[in-house]
Amino acid sequence: SRAQVYEKGKSTNITFKDVAGLEGAKEEIQEIVEFLRSPQRYTDLGAKIPKGALLVGPPGTGKTLLAKAVAGEAKVPFFSLSGSDFVEMFVGVGASRVRDLFRQAKEKAPAIIFIDEIDAIGRARGKNNGFNSNDERENTLNQLLTEMDGFGTNSGVIILAATNRADVLDAALMRAGRFDRQIYVDMPDLNERKEIFQVHLKPIKLEKNMDVDFLSKQTPGFSGADIANLCNEAALIAARQNKKFVEKQDFLDAVDRIIGGLEKKNKIIT
Ligand code: ATP
Repeated sequence: SRAQVYEKGKSTNITFKDVAGLEGAKEEIQEIVEFLRSPQRYTDLGAKIPKGALLVGPPGTGKTLLAKAVAGEAKVPFFSLSGSDFVEMFVGVGASRVRDLFRQAKEKAPAIIFIDEIDAIGRARGKNNGFNSNDERENTLNQLLTEMDGFGTNSGVIILAATNRADVLDAALMRAGRFDRQIYVDMPDLNERKEIFQVHLKPIKLEKNMDVDFLSKQTPGFSGADIANLCNEAALIAARQNKKFVEKQDFLDAVDRIIGGLEKKNKIIT
């Protein structure tokens, strides 16, 4: 997947500045940053700190980025795993990985645990679409639930998980004291696309007076990840032609290329 690899248990150098748009999501998740920075402020008043929040939204909209930004803002270690890593795993391995991860995070608390593609392990139990049942996935899910229940609310470990499919998740995951908060991370609108462009155009050498409004208007349906990809693709196209600057036309060529790619991808799915 796209996730960058961080040294396990180190913080990230990503902050909210790197996350364009998503104002509502950032505002909601800011509270988690506050919990991690000064848990005592909450616990002194007898408040229970939430254990986890679920980031819900389409692919490439910045869920992983936002989770990393929480760790970066709070300057706490970031531990992550992806649900898809657990598919096809040998018996016992998934559950023991989950156990290890929680143990390490607790040792380094306050800390963030991020579980990407949680639907791969968190699908409702007993629903295997008619295929052979995947006991190891269920073991992993059960271990995750056990871990979440096993540590005190004020252990200083907060678990963020991301999914495109909150509807398929096991209801047990969403119960109080587990992922009882959902934060929506939506596709960017015109203005948000402009902000995302501004982030990803920063390292790129542009022709003078590049019209960012125009770029935003040319990219309806693009996610943040698509825009990041587009900016790089445009720079590659310009470099191939030995240009000194990336021009509007390079972006248009890159848009065509990416839309072509998206259409192909959709054809395979349908
Ligand atoms: P998936 O569901 O496919 O895992 P995701 O929602 O976790 O996707 P990210 O992995 O966070 O998406 O996004 C991929 C990349 O796209 C980011 O590393 C970043 O470069 C870019 N990106 C996505 N959303 C934004 C955003 N809101 N602001 C800036 N960059 C973004």
